[in-house]
Amino acid sequence: MPSPPVTLQVEHRASLRAHNSFGLPASAATLVRVASVADLRRVVDHPQYGVAPKLILGGGSNLVLTRDVEALVLKIEIPGRRRVRETDDAWIVEAGAGENWHAFVEWTLAQGWPGLENLALIPGLVGAAPVQNIGAYGVELKDRFESLDALDLVTGRMVTLDAAMCHFGYRDSVFKQHLAGKSVITAVRFRLPKPWTPVLGYLELERCVAESGNFTPGARTIFDWVVAIRRAKLPDPALIGNAGSFFKNPVVSAEQCRDIIGRDPEIVHYPLPDGRIKLAAGWLIDACGWKGKSLGRAGVYERQALVLVNRGGASGAEVVMLARAIQESVYGRFGIRLEPEPVIV
Ligand SMILES: Cc1cc2nc3c(=O)[nH]c(=O)nc-3n(C[C@H](O)[C@H](O)[C@H](O)COP(=O)(O)OP(=O)(O)OC[C@H]3O[C@@H](n4cnc5c(N)ncnc54)[C@H](O)[C@@H]3O)c2cc1C
Repeated sequence: MPSPPVTLQVEHRASLRAHNSFGLPASAATLVRVASVADLRRVVDHPQYGVAPKLILGGGSNLVLTRDVEALVLKIEIPGRRRVRETDDAWIVEAGAGENWHAFVEWTLAQGWPGLENLALIPGLVGAAPVQNIGAYGVELKDRFESLDALDLVTGRMVTLDAAMCHFGYRDSVFKQHLAGKSVITAVRFRLPKPWTPVLGYLELERCVAESGNFTPGARTIFDWVVAIRRAKLPDPALIGNAGSFFKNPVVSAEQCRDIIGRDPEIVHYPLPDGRIKLAAGWLIDACGWKGKSLGRAGVYERQALVLVNRGGASGAEVVMLARAIQESVYGRFGIRLEPEPVIV
C-alpha cells in the first residue's frame, strides 16, 4: 500500500465551480486538501496557514459563493467508516467527515444497521451533516446522533462533542453559531436504535404506503421511496445548479398564524409541540407568484418554489439578488422574514 503524503496537498487559484452544487463561479486563493487529522495539525502548525482565516468546505451543497475566497479553503476529504460497537439497544457507527453522506447511508443499510433511511440522497459529506442538523421526511440527524470529533482551529486540540454540546436546532447547531469556521468536524458517530422502528408519518411516505399496499415496509424499501420522492421533486445538482431548500420554514406564534389564516385560509402550516406554528416557506413563495420565475440567470424551480436554481452561468450575486427580492415579496404580503438556509460567502 502506498504511504500517505507527509506534506500538505495545496492548490493555488483553485476553481471552486465544481466544488459547489450551485455551480457558481469563484476561486480559492489557496485550497488545502485535508485527508486526515494529521493534515489538519499541519495546517494549524503552519506559519501562514495556522493564523489565516479559513473556510471549511465539504461537498459545497449548502453554500452560495458570491465572490472569490481569500480565506484558506480547507477541503475536507477524511475517509473511513466502521462499526464502533453494538449494544443491546443500538448499533454505534462512525464515518470520517469526508465520506459521501448518501453512500454512507446506503452502506449502513447494506450492513444491516437501519435508521438513516429517511435521510437518503441528501447531497454533501458526513462532516457537514451535523452543521445544520440535516433533516428530511420526519428524521433529523440529532435523532440518530451519538457524538463527533472535531479539531479546534484556535487551540489545535481535538475535542469530542455529544448532542447537548452541539446545541442542535432546526437546521442549526453550534457549528453555525459560535464555532462557525473555528472547529473542523473530523468524524461523526451515529446511534442506530434497536429494535428498528420505521418513521412513516410524513405525508409523502404515507402516500407510498397506501399506494403500494405495503403496510410494513423494511428500511431498504423506505430508502427507495425517499430516493424516488426526492428525484421526482428536487432538481439534480449535476444537471441544474441549486442548494436544495433555499429558505428555512419560518416559525410564528399561534396568534400571528391565526391572523395570516384569516387572510389566506389555505396557508400550509404545522403545529409544533411548544404551541408555535411552522409555516411552509415554499407555500409563501408560491403565493407571491415566484414559482418558475427568473431574475437574471437565477430562478425559482418550477416544481418546488423553495428551491432556487442556476439557469446557466448565474453568479452568486444574482442568486442573492433573487433571494432578496423573494424575501421582500414575502415580507410585504405576510409580514414574515424568510431566513436563508445555505451559508452565503
Ligand atoms: C438538491 C439538494 C437537496 C438538499 N436536501 C436537503 C435536505 O433534505 N435536508 C437538509 O438538511 N439539507 C439538504 N440540502 C442541503 C445540504 O445537502 C446539506 O446541508 C449538507 O449537509 C451539506 O453538506 P456539504 O458537505 O455539501 O456542506 P458544505 O456546503 O460544503 O458546507 C456547509 C457548511 O458546513 C461547513 N462545514 C462543512 N464541512 C464541515 C466540517 N467537516 N467541519 C465543520 N464545518 C463544516 C461549511 O463551512 C459550511 O458552513 C440539500 C442540498 C441540495 C443541493
